[in-house]
Amino acid sequence: MKIGVIGVQGAVSEHLEITRAAMERCGFTGSVEWVDRAEKLRGLDGIIIPGGESTTIGRLMQRTGMFERIREMGLGGVPIMGTCAGMILLAKVGDEQVKRTGQPLLGLVDMEIERNAFGRQRESFEVDLPVTILGGEPFRAVFIRAPAVRRVWGNAQVIARFNGRIVGVLQQNFLALAFHPELTADTRLHEYFLWMCKR
Ligand code: GLN
Repeated sequence: MKIGVIGVQGAVSEHLEITRAAMERCGFTGSVEWVDRAEKLRGLDGIIIPGGESTTIGRLMQRTGMFERIREMGLGGVPIMGTCAGMILLAKVGDEQVKRTGQPLLGLVDMEIERNAFGRQRESFEVDLPVTILGGEPFRAVFIRAPAVRRVWGNAQVIARFNGRIVGVLQQNFLALAFHPELTADTRLHEYFLWMCKR
């Protein structure tokens, strides 16, 4: 299998490394590629959009011609995992900040996103978060100026909440996380994503 990590800005190398480790643990053969232009999207079995600054990542994806192509691939069933800024980009509806900046959203997941939802005092923190797709087991979740989901609809399924707020969503071929699983040594969520790509 071939997995691509969108590498225009943000936490790219951490995702490359942990996805390679997850692939080994799953016993899958394949490669994990750094994707910074549209041609490199060809033939991917899965796409990871990392954390960073969603405005910047979105605009650079547009400039490189990747934005529309990723959207089409997602609509065509290619699994996409978005973490933090990547989660924001997956959303169908943005908050006031999204509207003000005029940033592009891929609009693939039935959710309304709120940027920087945890306020200035709690810009970054870690919690043990039960995640339904891990059998309800806790996952050490690292939040950095994280978004939260205000509401979901359609087929979107909530897989994690923190303080009553939605921080993980699964919808068909899309996995959206408000936190940074690539900043831990725990490969379980990446393994889950690779199984989505395998199907
Ligand atoms: N605050 C960033 C944004 O709104 C996301 C932060 C992150 O990806 N760690 O785009």
